[in-house]
Amino acid sequence: MTKFIFVTGGVVSSIGKGITTASLGRLLRNRGFTVAPMKLDPYINVDAGTMSPHQHGEVFVTDDGAETDLDLGHYERFMDVSCTSGSSLTTGKVYSAVISAERRGDYLGGTVQVIPHVTNEIKRAIQALAKEQEADVLIAEIGGTVGDIESLPFLEAIRQMRTDLGHENTMYVHVTLIPTVGPWQEVKTKPTQHSVYKLREIGIAPDVLVCRSEVPLPNDVREKISLFCGVPPQAVIESTNVPTIYEVPLTYEAAGLGDFVVSRLNLEKRDANLAQWEKLVDTLKHPKTECTIAVVGKYTQNGDAYKSIAEALTHAGIPNDSKVNIRWIESDNLENGTPAEAFLEDVDGLVVGPGFGNRGIEGKIEAIRFARESGLPFFGICLGLQMAVVEFARNVCGLEGANSEEMLDNPPYPVIHLLPEQKHVTEKGASMRLGTYPCNVVHGTLAEKIYGNNRIEERHRHRYEVNNDFREKLQNHGMVISGVSPDYRLIEMIEVPTHPYFVGTQAHPEFKSRPNRPHPLFEGLVQAALARKANTAASVL
Ligand code: GLN
Repeated sequence: MTKFIFVTGGVVSSIGKGITTASLGRLLRNRGFTVAPMKLDPYINVDAGTMSPHQHGEVFVTDDGAETDLDLGHYERFMDVSCTSGSSLTTGKVYSAVISAERRGDYLGGTVQVIPHVTNEIKRAIQALAKEQEADVLIAEIGGTVGDIESLPFLEAIRQMRTDLGHENTMYVHVTLIPTVGPWQEVKTKPTQHSVYKLREIGIAPDVLVCRSEVPLPNDVREKISLFCGVPPQAVIESTNVPTIYEVPLTYEAAGLGDFVVSRLNLEKRDANLAQWEKLVDTLKHPKTECTIAVVGKYTQNGDAYKSIAEALTHAGIPNDSKVNIRWIESDNLENGTPAEAFLEDVDGLVVGPGFGNRGIEGKIEAIRFARESGLPFFGICLGLQMAVVEFARNVCGLEGANSEEMLDNPPYPVIHLLPEQKHVTEKGASMRLGTYPCNVVHGTLAEKIYGNNRIEERHRHRYEVNNDFREKLQNHGMVISGVSPDYRLIEMIEVPTHPYFVGTQAHPEFKSRPNRPHPLFEGLVQAALARKANTAASVL
């Protein structure tokens, strides 16, 4: 039988519920438990697919093609699990299900209400995921902050689950803020007390308080929190800022959270098994070397818009014993007359990231031209591959004005185009090529060397594809098609073998990178970047 942990947040948003959920999951995974993470999002969008990365950060894509909140990325990276579409539940999804049931006549004669119909649907979805994943423990994070109107049905549903399943099988973790004020950095517990009162009003008494604080909590403060909030002192977990997010599970373990959860839920006591995680955190904190990778994108003002790419680069540093600094470059800035050289001459590698629409596109193409001509290691992801093909078509194959049909109606050379089956799609949500697809890696290519495998699987999220009419032309001029769909119809990967590292993929490998299993394409990029840096240093000497 599955045990359920519910994570709520209080006082302010962006308090780190996602990292808390992910870290708690890591502690249980270290102990060998099967953990299913879940995100309950109060917004009315059915999924995150139609939300702007400017506002909401990255859209994370699961193996089965769900477009979800970026917190699922944290869960996958920390817990080394694969989420499914069931791992993400939104108000939009819940209401769609309830309204469809009502139209079918499932509630015939009844008045459809938030309690019990909406709350039942939420409970059904939580139980369905626990069953699908055969989870020992399901950890569900409730988006938003306690006190928000939108999250009430979710909180009511998890309150009912305590009654349904019993104390021993359910647990509430509340993440809260302990601010410091005044010249003496006085630690203040009142906001936490109020947020716990708010939870209690709804009928939920927290079992654990994770207290985000700038400073370590003095003992008397911990005792005060314990007394006023009705949580045992050992369940008041201090969470101060640490140099890398991957250290958070270690600080929780040291604070006793792992053992507390195991005994509170009456799970089997097992070894906490920290060695692998400690080792990777140690490398992250004390790398031998460093390099700088530029990431050109169009949503770089929102630090979360390329979250998985940033994390994948960090992971790729681990086996290379290197810190990876990221220089974010807004693609618009490459279009105002300053040459790409000025932005890129002192970096060691370049990533051109995913994106939609034509703003900043010529800037991306310029950056790719510079990388191709100067031997700067380059990795193009989805739109990054597409623009690498456009650049190559224009500047190497001489196809002047070559472009993607996404950027221009009827370009003279539509080297990137819509597949016929995409042409008639009018609904925007979930209508792209989404989720995991297999790819044959071509023998003798750099891609084969990097993957060490001829059959790979990666996640996708795009509408446009390389136009096969230009396949030969690109190949005749030295571009190698290194990955194709099993039916040979779709070009999935490209490379330029005369260049030290010029690789593009139509997929999103960043979604599959884990700190304990960095993705080979990112690892290869960082390796090439370090080699270039060493060469440049040698040539200066
Ligand atoms: N806009 C491009 C397409 O839809 C690329 C998408 C992406 O980079 N994820 O094909």
